[in-house]
Amino acid sequence: MTDVIVVGGGPAGLSAALFAEKNGLETTVFDTDETWMHKAHLFNYPGIGSQDGSVYMDTLRNQVDNFGVERKQGEAVTGVAESGDGFGVTTEAGEYEAPYVVLATGASRDLAEELGCALTDEGVVDADVTMETSVDDAYATGAMVRAEEWQAVISAGDGAAAALNILSKEKGEHFHDFDVPADADSAFGGMVDEA
Ligand SMILES: Cc1cc2nc3c(=O)[nH]c(=O)nc-3n(C[C@H](O)[C@H](O)[C@H](O)COP(=O)(O)OP(=O)(O)OC[C@H]3O[C@@H](n4cnc5c(N)ncnc54)[C@H](O)[C@@H]3O)c2cc1C
Repeated sequence: MTDVIVVGGGPAGLSAALFAEKNGLETTVFDTDETWMHKAHLFNYPGIGSQDGSVYMDTLRNQVDNFGVERKQGEAVTGVAESGDGFGVTTEAGEYEAPYVVLATGASRDLAEELGCALTDEGVVDADVTMETSVDDAYATGAMVRAEEWQAVISAGDGAAAALNILSKEKGEHFHDFDVPADADSAFGGMVDEA
């Protein structure tokens, strides 16, 4: 049992995991490492001048690992269903449960459809601005919710929006994750480069 299960470990999934785990929710990510980022070179990710997509993924994985996200790399999710007050997720290796699930499988909508998430007239997963689907506490991100506008920064934003909505539900009030310069030393002890 974990607080949040994230299916997919690209920019969307790891962004969701970062925000959730950083703010106290135990988060498990399952990923098969077929992220499109391995084919990309970023010139259009705000704040990053020019970076190979795989290098970006290495940094992001290191970032979530340092916050304590459980990252089950190479473990494919084969099924997801509502279960009790949350969701049951089946993988090649076992069964997992969580009250929240974030689907971040890129363009693949299979799991969202299996879960019963409504689709739009365009055939993409219907999600609101918090990325919550028609199934309460189930979130969808990235290309599965958009016909064409596929960008890494949009996926990362989707993941953040999903996590903040989960955090707002858990804390009972609107939640935002703001840090100030004085937090840097105490929180990271020099882990993050001072560019
Ligand atoms: C050639 C190319 C160049 C690009 N260039 C740019 C660019 O310059 N700038 C830009 O912003 N974007 C670019 N993109 C797009 C960018 O890579 C995507 O928008 C971004 O990767 C989407 O992130 P995501 O997290 O939504 O999905 P993805 O990155 O696709 O990640 C989804 C992850 O989910 C995993 N997964 C899927 N199903 C399962 C399952 N059942 N169980 C466990 N894991 C699963 C996959 O293995 C994958 O790792 C490019 C894409 C391509 C193909």
